[in-house]
Amino acid sequence: MKPAPFAYLRPATLEEALAALAGQQGAKVLAGGQSLVPLLSMRLAAPSMLVDINALPDLGHVTVSPGGAGDGAGEGVRIGALARHADVLASAEATASQPLLAMALSHVAHPTIRNRGTTVGSLVHADAAAEMPMVLRLLDGSVDVASVRGRRTIPAAELFAGPLESTLAHDEIAVEAFFPALGPGAGVAFQEIARRHGDYALVGVAAHVETAGGEVTRARVGFVSVSDVPVVVDVTDALDDPAGAALAELEPADDIHATAAYRAHLVKVLTPRVLADAIHHARQTTTQGRSA
Ligand SMILES: Cc1cc2nc3c(=O)[nH]c(=O)nc-3n(C[C@H](O)[C@H](O)[C@H](O)COP(=O)(O)OP(=O)(O)OC[C@H]3O[C@@H](n4cnc5c(N)ncnc54)[C@H](O)[C@@H]3O)c2cc1C
Repeated sequence: MKPAPFAYLRPATLEEALAALAGQQGAKVLAGGQSLVPLLSMRLAAPSMLVDINALPDLGHVTVSPGGAGDGAGEGVRIGALARHADVLASAEATASQPLLAMALSHVAHPTIRNRGTTVGSLVHADAAAEMPMVLRLLDGSVDVASVRGRRTIPAAELFAGPLESTLAHDEIAVEAFFPALGPGAGVAFQEIARRHGDYALVGVAAHVETAGGEVTRARVGFVSVSDVPVVVDVTDALDDPAGAALAELEPADDIHATAAYRAHLVKVLTPRVLADAIHHARQTTTQGRSA
């Protein structure tokens, strides 16, 4: 099917892009187009205008810097709105600072899609079947957005409103995402089950643990494809049965890809496995140094 007709604008400055979005209630941002273009082609989206941000300057960065977005605390990875998944994956500095980026990104789609799709676009597209929204939520990252009214930082806990729905206003552009670095004594892990490598996961699980003196002081687990929005469960007090604790908070659903019962089974199998990997990672990196 062909898309419904729309106007197309490729602004050269952020100000011009923001003014266009503010002036057109039905306008949509086009970044990598790897999610939006299929929706247009199927006429599941019919914007009045596409504001293509690919010519905007200074948004292709993947950098590691001290100071979290908004609160000024901690080191982390800053990813500009035009950085492709492949750019993030190729940044040795970024993936050393936060290894969960590479662990999860290597499961995002196929290389051709990662060459074009942006990590920030994936976040604001807010698909609970996508890896990076859950990773941002698990790590307590944030997204900086701009509009003609100014800039604000949206913490991950406030970013995901519902299925494919973020809390960005229609006239806001996400300009940068911030993923906190892995802290001392911390470890991460990720595993997913998909029909083929690169397909959306039937279930994906990531874990983030903090340890002190080899003992786990905090453990959280995040889930892909088991809910309408990315869900993170604190299992610090349930290390002997983390899957039981997770399933008490999750309501896996049936769809054409898997039954709810099969998803629950995958949660049961993957959760303790991934948690054990993250604890091992924390102990290994504590012993060998962060670059290990
Ligand atoms: C065959 C296929 C398989 C895929 N498999 C996976 C997978 O396994 N895991 C996965 O996570 N993803 C997968 N994807 C999606 C891919 O990761 C997309 O690139 C990503 O979800 C969206 O990024 P984009 O830059 O392409 O955004 P676009 O398609 O350009 O935009 C997506 C949405 O976000 C909005 N948007 C984008 N950027 C901004 C911005 N800076 N500010 C405000 N709004 C913005 C757009 O208006 C639109 O509503 C797959 C895609 C395809 C086609």
